Formats: sequence, C-alpha cells, structure tokens
Amino acid sequence: MANTDQSAKLFAEAAELIPGGVNSPVRAFNAVGGTPRFITSAQGCWLTDADGNRYVDLVCSWGPMILGHAHPQVVAAVTEAAANGLSFGAPTPTESELAAEIVERVAPVQKLRLVNSGTEATMSAVRLARGFTGRAKVIKFSGCYHGHVDALLADAGSGVATLALPSSPGVTGATAADTIVLPYNDVAAVEAAFAEHGDQIAVVITEASPGNMGCVPPNPGFNAALRRITAAHGALLILDEVMTGFRVSRSGWYGIDPVDADLFTFGKVMSGGLPAAAFGGRTEVMDRLAPLGPVYQAGTLSGNPVAMAAGLATLRAADDTVYAALDANADRLAALLTGALSEAGVAHRVQRAGNMLSVFFGEHPVTDFASARASQTWRFAPFFHALLDAGVYPPCSAYEAWFVSAALDDDAFARIAEALPAAARAAAAAKDPEGLS
Ligand SMILES: *Cc1c(COP(=O)(O)O)cnc(C)c1O
Repeated sequence: MANTDQSAKLFAEAAELIPGGVNSPVRAFNAVGGTPRFITSAQGCWLTDADGNRYVDLVCSWGPMILGHAHPQVVAAVTEAAANGLSFGAPTPTESELAAEIVERVAPVQKLRLVNSGTEATMSAVRLARGFTGRAKVIKFSGCYHGHVDALLADAGSGVATLALPSSPGVTGATAADTIVLPYNDVAAVEAAFAEHGDQIAVVITEASPGNMGCVPPNPGFNAALRRITAAHGALLILDEVMTGFRVSRSGWYGIDPVDADLFTFGKVMSGGLPAAAFGGRTEVMDRLAPLGPVYQAGTLSGNPVAMAAGLATLRAADDTVYAALDANADRLAALLTGALSEAGVAHRVQRAGNMLSVFFGEHPVTDFASARASQTWRFAPFFHALLDAGVYPPCSAYEAWFVSAALDDDAFARIAEALPAAARAAAAAKDPEGLS
C-alpha cells in the first residue's frame, strides 16, 4: 500500500475549512472510499501527490489536459500572458483569436461568447434560447450533466449521479417546473413530449455524446433526430460539448457526428486547464445577447487574458498528430482493460465515444441512465483502489469517463499493464452488497 499520510493530513485540514474538504464533490472519493490524493505537481501524463507517490493520470483534470500536464508551449504562453497583466476588464486581442480558432473548427458556430465555466456556458445558452423563442420549457435527458445550473440539475449525471441525489435541495419547484427530463436515446419520448408541449418548449439540451453517466454514446441518428424534431416545432437545440469539444476530434463530437445545432457549449479542453468556457451558434441567435440584444449575460473575468493564452496554445498545439495519439492511446488502454478483465472472468463493457471511454461491469449494454445504474457499480471501488495503489489514477466513480492524454508513453502503459491484473481480480472478487448477483 502506498503511503498516504500527507494526503490524509491535508484532507483533514481541508475538511475543517471547506465542506467535505473539496471544491467539487467528486474529488472527495465518496463513491470509492479512502483518502483523496492531494496533488502537488504534474508533468506529462504523471501526477505526483503530497506523499511523493506518482500516478499515471487517466483523468486529465476531467478532460482538459489532452496534451498532458505542464506542456512547454502552454506554460510559456501562460507565463508570457501573465507577465503582461492578469485582467483588464476591457477587450483584448486574444479573445478574438480564441473565438476564431473555435469558429474555424465547428462550422455551425458563427459567433461565440466567452465565459468562465461550463456551468455558465449552459446556463447562458438556455437563457438565450428562452429569450430567442419566448418560450419557457427545457428538455434535458436523465444522466446528462450540464453543470450545476438550477434548471438542469434534475436527474443529472456526474457527481449528482455518484452521490445518488435525485436533484438538489435549494432548487425551487418553480425553477425546475419548466424542465422536462426524458430517458436518453429515446426518440419516441422526445416526440411524445413535443406532441404534448410543442409550443412551449424553448430548447432541447443534450450532451453531444454523454460522458457524465459514464461513457454512453448516442445511438446512430439520435442527435440528428433531435435536430429534426426541434426544428419542426420552432425550438432550439443545444449540443453540450463541454466535455467532448476539441477532445474527441479537432472539431469535437461535431467532427464525428456533424449535427447543426443552434447553440454549442464548450469548456474543458478549450481553456487548457484554466477557467474559461464558451457558448456559440448562429449569428441570428447570438446577436440577441446584450449589448446587441436584450438577453443579458456578462462576466468580470470573462475572456481573461491568461486563460485565453492557455486555450489558444492548447488548441494550436492540438494538431492531427495529437488527435491520432489520443485515439491510439484510447485504443491501447481499452485493449488492456478488456484483456485484464476478460482474463479475470468479469463480465464488463468498455464503452467508447471517440477517445473517451468507461468501464461498466455486467452483461448488458449501457444506453441510458437506467442501464448505467443497473450495471454492477459495486465492482468499481475495489477495481479503482487496486489501480490507485499500483500507481494508476482512474476516475473515482463508475459514472465518469476515463480521459487519455497524448502524453501517455510506453512507461505509462507498462505501469497500467502491470497494475491491471490484480485490479481485475479485485473486481471479480467483489460482492454485491445487496446479494443479488
Ligand atoms: C464538465 C461539464 C459541464 C460543466 O462544466 P464546469 O466547468 O464544471 O462548470 C457542463 N457540461 C458537460 C457536458 C460537462 O462535462
């Protein structure tokens, strides 16, 4: 067992000051138990914790770090930007440069607005869609996570799923009343909702390819069906690419499954690990935003020059070679996972969406939140801890995607290959707490 004394001490200290000791719930390891590792530095695909343990990073800050940590070009760009001043509250040239890079990659995005987090991006996109259509209702899908926006927390994925919360206290009935939650991948349910409320539905929001209930890709044609149905009823479609954008291809999920949504949301990769995000779409819709239009949206630190520099340097470095490496690394990781779990005799599925993946235990394909919940999630904690003890850092919940970087190398894969057999045996030996299987 790795020594985790320093992490345990830091966690206890943090818990005195910060609820649960963390600033985002999933980091607390609630689903898997044990001591969250306090990370003190990272380089390439390696994380180092406060006790000096090193881990192969398969979380990548929940997606952003496609180039690996402390990439020299990104660090240089950030350092240079910081030396020129941290924030001005006035427009800067780099905002348009980052916007241009995004507009060039995702064809339906003609204009975009930069914000500070994915949550802000989806919140603002929904407000804009409501303002544009003059309608109130929002359709979201069970198990999809769009940040902690009040109206979108109902039946959400990510930490909300990990902690098994139905929604959240503090979200009033009035706020949630206009949210319609439907099962994912169910076109008939969407058609039925529009048949009943068609003239009141402002927008359908969906993860372009969900990664927040684990990796559950859309059935072929699902996003296209959402486009067809929303257009027929005068509603807008938001494809949330905060996770997939600029990760699964240079144009995100749009590069794999090109569906012309009215609005797209981005975050994670586009700001290279600093806090920035964006929402964008066709000019006619985007021009309803203040100061051109009446829909208000703002931010003191929006378009922050240091975050812009990190995002620009990341996207500029993310060329075809990087995307090929991400895909190859995901293939290699998936093959190692399948090999070890098959060898140990555990029924499992490694589900993929481009270079994102996740491991579900059990026989059944996972196509929505209900099937994700029906998987043998109780096998996950022992699997996770065996990997962590052996110096591999996977996501700490069965309901999260695994993220590779282009920095994974032969040493990292050797570490993963060494760690997997014992972890797979631990998953095989796990007992269902309810004694059902
Ligand atoms: C991470 C995520 C968000 C929220 O982004 P934050 O920056 O954490 O607020 C929204 N949507 C999706 C699909 C995400 O994966």
